[in-house]
Amino acid sequence: MTKKTMTTSAGAPVSDNQNSMTAGARGPVLLQDYQLIEKLAHQNRERIPERVVHAKGWGAYGALRITEDISQYTKAKALQKGATTPMLARFSTVAGELGAADNERDVRGFALKFYTDDGNWDLVGNNTPVFFLRDPYKFPDFIHTQKRHPRTNMRSAEAMWDYWSLSPEALHQVTILMSDRGCPTTPMHMNGYGSHTYSLINDQGERTWVKFHFKTQQGHQHLTNAESGAKIGETREGYQEALFGAIEDGDFPKWTLQIQVMSEAEAAQTAFNPFDLTKVWPHADFPPITIGEFELNRNPDNYFAEIEQAAFSPSNIVPGVGFSPDKVLQARIFSYADAHRYRLGTHYEALPVNAPKCPVHHYHKDGQMNFTGGRTGNPDVYYEPNSIEGAPREDRDFAEPPLAVSGDADRFDHREGNDDYSQARALHDLMDDAQRARLYQNTAEAMQGAKEETIARVLTHYEQISPAYANGIRTARMAMQG
Ligand code: NDP
Repeated sequence: MTKKTMTTSAGAPVSDNQNSMTAGARGPVLLQDYQLIEKLAHQNRERIPERVVHAKGWGAYGALRITEDISQYTKAKALQKGATTPMLARFSTVAGELGAADNERDVRGFALKFYTDDGNWDLVGNNTPVFFLRDPYKFPDFIHTQKRHPRTNMRSAEAMWDYWSLSPEALHQVTILMSDRGCPTTPMHMNGYGSHTYSLINDQGERTWVKFHFKTQQGHQHLTNAESGAKIGETREGYQEALFGAIEDGDFPKWTLQIQVMSEAEAAQTAFNPFDLTKVWPHADFPPITIGEFELNRNPDNYFAEIEQAAFSPSNIVPGVGFSPDKVLQARIFSYADAHRYRLGTHYEALPVNAPKCPVHHYHKDGQMNFTGGRTGNPDVYYEPNSIEGAPREDRDFAEPPLAVSGDADRFDHREGNDDYSQARALHDLMDDAQRARLYQNTAEAMQGAKEETIARVLTHYEQISPAYANGIRTARMAMQG
């Protein structure tokens, strides 16, 4: 085997990596020991800003396979029958920091990046089909209630329930969070949902609204609060151990891909707003259609490079897939890419894990850490329009069909005319008695530490979901108080 010499990051051989260079055996250290300075300086720069949300994550590579023909809805190459597309998945908890315990009760992020021939398509969802809010104005405040109190530096039940008591649209998602599905045993034992409504666009330029669902083939498995506490006592890395271990053992997890579709005409008729992130589309009216599956089958070699630096953004769509009027989706289109520019730098999409596997031709120039140079294939082609033969050009063939919008530009009360209770009630009612008992108990436990007046206020909303639900929580609270 050829001898490999250790080098500085500039490539010069290192003669000693054990002993600093000093004036005499007892020191002091000489400034000219550049390798020591480089080593310490690098260590100082090992951390990058942690994600404000979804900081703790676990991920792996795999492939998406489409088994059914949905060309009537979309021209997306990755969604044609028989297509196989390489992908990356990252799962996460929302509220916990980078060192948080994996098995805590929380919503799980379910972020997918498909490296398609037409660019990267990212579906950045959760293990829940809905979210706590329908207006993006609410997102920073909601997240503040889930994070640490500025004075105590501890999580605050009072902040959470005070916010929820004044935001009844959140209680559908709170019901999922406090149900069995709020504490999955591993990332492999939960569903994923694109959550937002997106569009599919076919080769006739026709748009159909769509929801994406990824159903676990491993089955749903959950921990109770007590089991989760015991698990965290054993290990803080339960998810990493389970996912990494399963893939190392060749036990590859799979999820079935289903879509729900809604025509533009149907969307104008639904009793609920189909672009409201706090609502599902009922299965009876919009039945799920199975179209394929994905499998995760390769662990990253370097967690930091490939999972910590993985940058998913709902702004990444490809021809045949489009956005929708969902206000929260619209805000995330800005917010996610912006977060990556801040955390990783301007050229975050040139990092190997984020780089598309198809040709990239753009006119963005320079910026910190631009290690790819120009992306037009010709050093003279650095502005547009230009008259240079072979220069990258826009292509109107890829234009989306126009989206008809109407109405006055104004601020509309996002709660007015919206039913915040029926879908939470439908979920409550489909649970069996044992599931409901755990829902009530988990909710009562989460309320510990909140003021009585706050709990009374939130219970008025639970009453409107279902008196049985409110009473169940009350009874569980009384039992806990002895
Ligand atoms: P359905 O009975 O057709 O669907 C019920 C869905 O509820 C199933 O997809 C099931 O998922 C899911 N579910 C069961 N237990 C839980 C739980 N503890 N937490 C979250 N989801 C659960 O009725 P509808 O379509 O009319 O929906 C009724 C309610 O079910 C909704 O209000 C919503 O809260 C919830 N739901 C609906 C979904 C949808 O897209 N329509 C998706 C997920 C939840 P699975 O089949 O994977 O077991």
